[in-house]
Amino acid sequence: SAKARGGGTYHFFTKMMNESAVARLAMENDLRDAIKREQFEVYYQPKVHLSTGRLSGLEALLRWNRPGRGFVSPMQFIPIAEETGLIGKIGEWVLRRVCQQIIEWDAQGVAPVVVAVNLSTRQLIEGRITETISGILQETGVAASRLVLEITETVMMQGMNRAVAILTEIRRLGIQIAIDDFGTGYSSLTYLKRLPINSIKIDRSFIRDITTDPDDAAITNTIILMGRNLGLRVIAEGVETTEQLEFLRAHDCDEIQGFLISEPRPPAEIAILMEQLEQA
Ligand code: C2E
Ligand code: MG
Ligand code: MG
Ligand code: MG
Repeated sequence: SAKARGGGTYHFFTKMMNESAVARLAMENDLRDAIKREQFEVYYQPKVHLSTGRLSGLEALLRWNRPGRGFVSPMQFIPIAEETGLIGKIGEWVLRRVCQQIIEWDAQGVAPVVVAVNLSTRQLIEGRITETISGILQETGVAASRLVLEITETVMMQGMNRAVAILTEIRRLGIQIAIDDFGTGYSSLTYLKRLPINSIKIDRSFIRDITTDPDDAAITNTIILMGRNLGLRVIAEGVETTEQLEFLRAHDCDEIQGFLISEPRPPAEIAILMEQLEQA
């Protein structure tokens, strides 16, 4: 009967929901202890100047090696860390680890590099982010000029004045600010004028079909022109092919990042790659 079918469907969905809720809870619990158990690692991906091919900086990308499950994508666990409030502790760990890494590379004689760290919106607006950052800089002895913070357009949803105030404080420390995943979030361009930012990163969804889709080509070209007119550096994310690179070069994009140059890699491998890119 229809009732029986309905009941079956109901049970099927509750079972699925329960399974995913259980898996999620397990992930949340594991994530809670991941710092203590030293399961996090920071990988680094190079960015290069399009005009010279030389290294312009690195982006720090968090990796979670979850026992029995291997590496879990940050796309899976960062949202959970945000919802549960764990992002504060995790984000602080990332910042400290990156600063320690900068000092290690310096001690090894690796040419000084600027490192970009992703900051989630919740991390930015909660707690005392400026104090946290300046504390870590003092504790590790890293100059503020060695850091870039990558934020997304969702900070605007917290209100423009709030975002401007926090970012201005961070900028006063001497840290640069980049807008990540540009073009995918908040739709107003007003904030570009008001936010104290240094660069914008064109989201890789626009770059993917840049050579075949006229709309994506137009959007990318327009972002590059707008960035230049506003005095911002423009970085293209997710560059995988030489055709994409050539398009971006022809349209005067400043920097590129993507698998074509290198995937994110652990610190030891990145040090070797940095030497090669320095000499390029
Ligand atoms: P994102 O900041 O936009 O980072 C770029 C993502 O694109 C990285 O994914 C990187 O591995 C990937 N990528 C780079 N080049 C290419 C390419 O050529 N092709 C393709 N298909 N992908 C490319 P990942 O490492 O999985 O990180 C995903 C997202 O997780 C990041 O996006 C960022 O939003 C977030 N995330 C990563 N680490 C942290 C962190 O320490 N803190 C916070 N709050 N978020 C983080
Ligand atoms: Mg990023
Ligand atoms: Mg991005
Ligand atoms: Mg992203």
